[in-house]
Amino acid sequence: MARLLVGKPVAQKIQEEIKKEIKMLLSRPVLVSIMVGDNASALAYINAQKKVAQDLGIEYQLHKLGTETKETTLIETIKKLNTDHSVNGIIVQMPLPVQIDYKKISQFIHPQKDVEGINPLNMGKIVFGQAEILPCTAAAVMELLNQTDIDLYGKEVVVVGHSEIVGKPLALLLLDKFATITVCHIATSEAGRLEDHVKSADVLVVAVGKANLIKGDWIKEGAVVIDVGINRVGEKIVGDVEFEEAERRASYITPVPAGVGPLTVTMLMRNLLRATKLQQNDL
Ligand code: NAD
Repeated sequence: MARLLVGKPVAQKIQEEIKKEIKMLLSRPVLVSIMVGDNASALAYINAQKKVAQDLGIEYQLHKLGTETKETTLIETIKKLNTDHSVNGIIVQMPLPVQIDYKKISQFIHPQKDVEGINPLNMGKIVFGQAEILPCTAAAVMELLNQTDIDLYGKEVVVVGHSEIVGKPLALLLLDKFATITVCHIATSEAGRLEDHVKSADVLVVAVGKANLIKGDWIKEGAVVIDVGINRVGEKIVGDVEFEEAERRASYITPVPAGVGPLTVTMLMRNLLRATKLQQNDL
């Protein structure tokens, strides 16, 4: 039976460290969150961020823009925040309306204020193993892996999902630990190869967004399983992995929603602290 990799205690420990460091800063860090249009899930995420920010002594400002906001207007807003010395971090909430291209927007957030680690410069630094600001979810997964006793050196690691915010940066971070990485995605499934790859994984990370995509009996005995997926099934939130069977086979497994989720916001705040220090030439 697997040990549960629960996010909250890890998050609390890191938050204590962040709190101490924030007290030593010259001024209270300011995080600006931009929301374009109205979205219930974005609001839930914003409220969670606001609460953690408050606990840590961070000022959280929400800028709301209308659903019809043009891409150029959002870019102008970001540029103003980039040059505003009272602002330390900028986050653009997802989802964005169709007229706004998220990949384009990510290029305009100043790399030292890019608390989600999505600017191409911050992404590029991951390739060189020199990243100061990491995409939050990828960083959360690395923190959870740190909680296990697994030495990633030479291990077979399978990442399912190749998004810019999770799968791709994570593959690079794991590569830096000298793991052997296989990245699977929709085409892997379509080619009928997903099961074979998953069965070979000493460490499995799944970030797809499809409930029960990964069958419990695909999990290798003793594997470490990190389930990033969040899916609503009726009243329940579940991950991408069939939990009960996987739990019987794995050595460690994250529960959903109590695994990766609680750590992601903490990683955002850690990024804000790093961003603030970079701005103060203190890193
Ligand atoms: P995305 O939609 O950008 O990417 C999905 C990935 O899954 C793609 O690589 C796609 O090719 C792959 N995929 C789709 N169907 C597949 C299939 N049948 N077989 C194999 N691969 C398939 O997703 P994302 O933004 O990376 O998010 C993925 C999941 O993680 C979502 O459920 C999201 O809610 C969740 N998430 C959780 C957190 C957290 O804090 N816990 C943070 C970010 C995302």
